Amino acid sequence: MARSTPAQVARLDREDPLAHKREAFDIPEGVIYLDGNSLGALPRGVASRLADVVSRQWGQSLIRGWNEHDWIDLPARVGDKIARLIGAERGSVVAADSTSINLFKVLAAALKMRPGRKVILSDSGNFPTDLYMAQGLAALLASGHELKVVPPEDVAAAIDETVAVTMITEVDYKTGRRHDMRALTKRAHEAGALAIWDLAHSAGAFPVDLAGAEADFAVGCGYKYLNGGPGAPAFLYVAPRHRDAVEPPLTGWMGHAAPFAFDLDYRPAEGVNRMRVGTPPVISLSALDAALDVFADVDMRALREKSVSLCELFIAEVEARCPDLALASPREAALRGSQVSFRCDFGYPLMQALIARGVIGDFRAPDIVRFGFAPLYLSYRDVFRAAEVLEEIILTRAWDREKFKKKAKVT
Ligand SMILES: *Cc1c(COP(=O)(O)O)cnc(C)c1O
Repeated sequence: MARSTPAQVARLDREDPLAHKREAFDIPEGVIYLDGNSLGALPRGVASRLADVVSRQWGQSLIRGWNEHDWIDLPARVGDKIARLIGAERGSVVAADSTSINLFKVLAAALKMRPGRKVILSDSGNFPTDLYMAQGLAALLASGHELKVVPPEDVAAAIDETVAVTMITEVDYKTGRRHDMRALTKRAHEAGALAIWDLAHSAGAFPVDLAGAEADFAVGCGYKYLNGGPGAPAFLYVAPRHRDAVEPPLTGWMGHAAPFAFDLDYRPAEGVNRMRVGTPPVISLSALDAALDVFADVDMRALREKSVSLCELFIAEVEARCPDLALASPREAALRGSQVSFRCDFGYPLMQALIARGVIGDFRAPDIVRFGFAPLYLSYRDVFRAAEVLEEIILTRAWDREKFKKKAKVT
């Protein structure tokens, strides 16, 4: 790909229909934030919303807040805001728990719907927690379930009549490689299996079409591209056609048909609400709710277009400037999510040196430097500048210092 001139980059920014969205975020001066795929930036509306929730709603309403501020239905309201971004039907998504726990819940429910089949199929590009949760569930069920992990390119061929459920993360957290959700779901259904999709690196990053792809279940993260804040509640989707067939494995009172009847026996609530477990975290859900307002008027196709051009600009500039870095992401945009990764032998200290210069991405062992592109708050100028800083650090070997080689607990 050809290099761009500063004038061309400035023109891309002038013509960017999403440029104004940066104003909706509070980003520290001097920081180029390329880690929104790990922890989204802070939307400006969140602080005032939280101040109101804490001081007025909690402080003044106290227990009355559950009704006065409708805290009790916040998981469904937030779920509906997320539904629009992931092509889900209204009322089919709830915001709750963490991605790991939601995955456990939908996986257990899916296995129950395919008695007699024992294979959970996933791939080696999946995020480890997904695999760990499946391993733990299989051990807990103690009925001979097996987690089968194949290379990403072999998933389709591995779907056969033994597979109960495919459990696939659409976008690989390391390389950004994107699976074909529609094709794999179709393949799973042809073999009589159910399809669970993890949208951790998809939701808020590009348009997703769960209903169109006929996905059975999905889960995803609130703190990545949805900008809900550290440890934000995750979300969970159940296809409307399964709403009455789903048996929740965690039968908490918030998933009961009538929590305040205080019956001694569990009866599931209607639809996806039965997948709720305990009392919703009102403060963090409110942060996610306010963060999602930034997306209210965003055309997700325009968002995707910008994401693709930001990634392409970065790839072209980095490849031209930094021959030490090898592209680890698919070159073809259609096969990528909204991140770009490079392999580099000195990736860890390189990333630390970048962060010290205000260009924040992250490192994934053993040798991946990873850059996420959140189109709502990044400019083309940011991306161009990030490539310049990367080149300077490599040319001057600024990364080759002891302080950049000391591994921190979170990388
Ligand atoms: C980020 C991520 C998670 C995170 O799970 P938590 O329960 O929120 O810690 C899970 N799965 C995938 C694929 C992820 O990318």
